[in-house]
Amino acid sequence: MAKQSTASERKKQITIRGLGGLETVSGLKLGFNRHLHFTLVKDRNVATMRDYYLALAHIVRDHLVGRWIRTQQYYYDKDPKRIYYLSLEFYIGRTLQNTMINLGLESSCDEAMYQLGLDIEELEEIEDDAGLGNGGLGRLAACFLDSMATLGLAAYGYGIRYEYGIFNQKIKDGWQVEEADDWLRHGNPWEKARPEYVLPVYFYGRVLHTKDGVKWIDAEVVLAIPYDTPVPGYLNNTVNTMRLWSAKAPNDFHLHHFNVGDYIQAVLDRNLAENISRVLYPNDNFFEGKELRLKQEYFVVAASLQDIIRRFKASKFSRKDVKNCFDSFADKVAIQLNDTHPALAIPELMRILMDIEKIGWDQAWKITKNTFAYTNHTILPEALERWPVDLFEKLLPRHLEIIYEINQRHLHKIRSLYPGDDQRLRRMSLVEEDGEKKINMAHLCIVGSHAVNGVAKIHSKIIKEQVFKDFSDIEPVKFQNKTNGITPRRWLLLCNPGLAALIAEKIGGDYIKDMNQLQKLHAYVNNDGFIHDVTSVKQENKVKLASLLEKEYGIKINMSSIFDVHVKRIHEYKRQLMNCLYIIVMYNRIRKEPNKNFVPRTVMIGGKAAPGYYMAKLIIKLITSVAQKVNSDPTIGNKLKVIFLENYRVSLAEKVIPATDLSQQISTAGTEASGTGNMKFMLNGALTIGTMDGANVEMAEEAGENNMFIFGMRVQDVAELDKKGYNASQYCENFPELKGVVDLIAGGYFSPNQPDLFRDILNMLFHHDRFKVFADFESYVNTQEKVNQLYQCHSLSRSHNCAALPDGPVSPEPNPGVHVFHWCSRCS
Ligand SMILES: *Cc1c(COP(=O)(O)O)cnc(C)c1O
Repeated sequence: MAKQSTASERKKQITIRGLGGLETVSGLKLGFNRHLHFTLVKDRNVATMRDYYLALAHIVRDHLVGRWIRTQQYYYDKDPKRIYYLSLEFYIGRTLQNTMINLGLESSCDEAMYQLGLDIEELEEIEDDAGLGNGGLGRLAACFLDSMATLGLAAYGYGIRYEYGIFNQKIKDGWQVEEADDWLRHGNPWEKARPEYVLPVYFYGRVLHTKDGVKWIDAEVVLAIPYDTPVPGYLNNTVNTMRLWSAKAPNDFHLHHFNVGDYIQAVLDRNLAENISRVLYPNDNFFEGKELRLKQEYFVVAASLQDIIRRFKASKFSRKDVKNCFDSFADKVAIQLNDTHPALAIPELMRILMDIEKIGWDQAWKITKNTFAYTNHTILPEALERWPVDLFEKLLPRHLEIIYEINQRHLHKIRSLYPGDDQRLRRMSLVEEDGEKKINMAHLCIVGSHAVNGVAKIHSKIIKEQVFKDFSDIEPVKFQNKTNGITPRRWLLLCNPGLAALIAEKIGGDYIKDMNQLQKLHAYVNNDGFIHDVTSVKQENKVKLASLLEKEYGIKINMSSIFDVHVKRIHEYKRQLMNCLYIIVMYNRIRKEPNKNFVPRTVMIGGKAAPGYYMAKLIIKLITSVAQKVNSDPTIGNKLKVIFLENYRVSLAEKVIPATDLSQQISTAGTEASGTGNMKFMLNGALTIGTMDGANVEMAEEAGENNMFIFGMRVQDVAELDKKGYNASQYCENFPELKGVVDLIAGGYFSPNQPDLFRDILNMLFHHDRFKVFADFESYVNTQEKVNQLYQCHSLSRSHNCAALPDGPVSPEPNPGVHVFHWCSRCS
């Protein structure tokens, strides 16, 4: 079915989404048919929708390759400083629409498909997400690639080409069930394999110290095959590269030594090597100390560093004098470590410089430190990587030696700065000696980098002043802040074309490369027409999402309800539980006074739980159980609906976020390093209910605290509560509505066949809740009440034509256009 878009709608998009001439459209149609024939070997009698998607993907790809080759040639000619972003995750999502937008081809492709009787949106839906990430950390890497290409920087992403990305989440009987994400099954039109650039990566073996230097011998080799994906900038002809490595066994793997004679077994054993790039570890903010994961971390590091050094040496500028050429290495190469996951790059560069390039320690160390910078993403202790020394010794014996040497010199320095302070020495060591000996990877990254950053102001302050205070005491300028961000191309232009065009109509289209320009919308905060149009776009987005949800979940959505959304990985610190308890508060209120005025809500919660995270999975079961009860209760009617959004991922985020009225960002203060979901919602005109945590703090600063529903404890309050001792039951006793909620759960109201199903949740909340849900609950409920009042005021102003929009007072600090609280005279 062809999309029923009007000519004027399509023209409106053209103003911001790139101009395409008539030749472009006919050229696209020709190319489409050519690819259908020659690439997919089909004609229109037998082609499937996937064939059409692939044919479209291939013509779009054709428009990339010239720019891609030219960009890389340009970098070779100009030899600018290269930026390397090393990350175990790149949570890319889909590529087709983003590529069309960044090449300015979207409206032409839309028109071409329309003329061919195809619906481009339907084709876009066929693309599998590249789910090579868990959540915020991986999505940040993907957003950075788009932004660096748009800025025209010579940047490269280096990672692993996982054969299986983040699992697909199914909900069965209310529980999460995982399914393998076989995303490459139908082929990936966006990648180009480069087997000719294969590189070896070594594991195991032993170290010899000889008079001609150190030798790592008897190691096992695994091959790293690069797969390149183009990263186009926005309308700037730049196309950068994301290079992902795939593990391949060498053809003589296990044939020449112990398995002599067992050829079949040796071929079967190839899987052992190739398992390295098989699957993404599905933990968000949690360290799992498995050997295979350590292999993955070294695999990407070893392959990428060889590639980086090859490119450095291949510069057409004279770098033939190898010894001296490395003096300029750090001027030409910057390597950013996305968390400690690629931390082995530090000892690996030391190993290459010393053992292979024969550079002395001091010089090698200087180069290394000047090359690396480290981004810290969390302070949750369970997330910090601490690898057992025994494992290290077996897998990477030479790297362990180098880490020991780094540590010796580091501790020597500390000892001379703080004579006799053994506690400090112990705290700052790279090697933890209490119990099983472990390497603290964050300490390694701090010592081996010239810059360390947190990802939001509050988080950077915490790492500088608390978590890594000993380190910032000796190198204060090393610690910085770089507040996270998102690409406005995907998270506004792509996912919310209506709003993007509306803004462009008022302030021009350049803002999509420069968000500061949104300030210009200040001029329109009292513009009835503009406010009306923004409201209409939101309503259109809600209608579109509602029809999808009605199809998917068979629930009738109340279109005048608040779309209240809480989507992110399921984690105790993110407090989906607190949201769920408030749902039950609303449920109780409606049941108690069914005829009382109630501001209707559609509450959506979505996110994956790590497969081994028991409590997170039980929280999902509680949410789905509450949803079942609420949605089937006739006294509730259309006042309240609860939907667990199955399989939350990038492509689902793009649908949900533009339709959201209220964004939930309610982590315990001091636990969410930044958050980026928070920003996506704000950019799409949702209001935020949130704590003073992560980048919510900067968002409140930018938008004005009056324009956000801020509640709950601040970081200092949490610390004080910890000091005096957190007594959860006391909060419960003092807040009858909370007690009512707890009693319902405890009485098995939501799990009649298994009354004690949620016992472990209640036990946690009362006795070992590290994230203090009860302590913030009353403040949360009161703030939700303010949300209701504001929304009611707005619904009134819409349905009863009250004077709010033209005459009502504007909040004292109007924010840049996206959401301005207008209280009507009746409500203010
Ligand atoms: C942005 C994003 C995240 C990160 O969300 P937070 O709320 O910052 O945790 C996670 N998953 C997906 C699919 C995203 O797009």
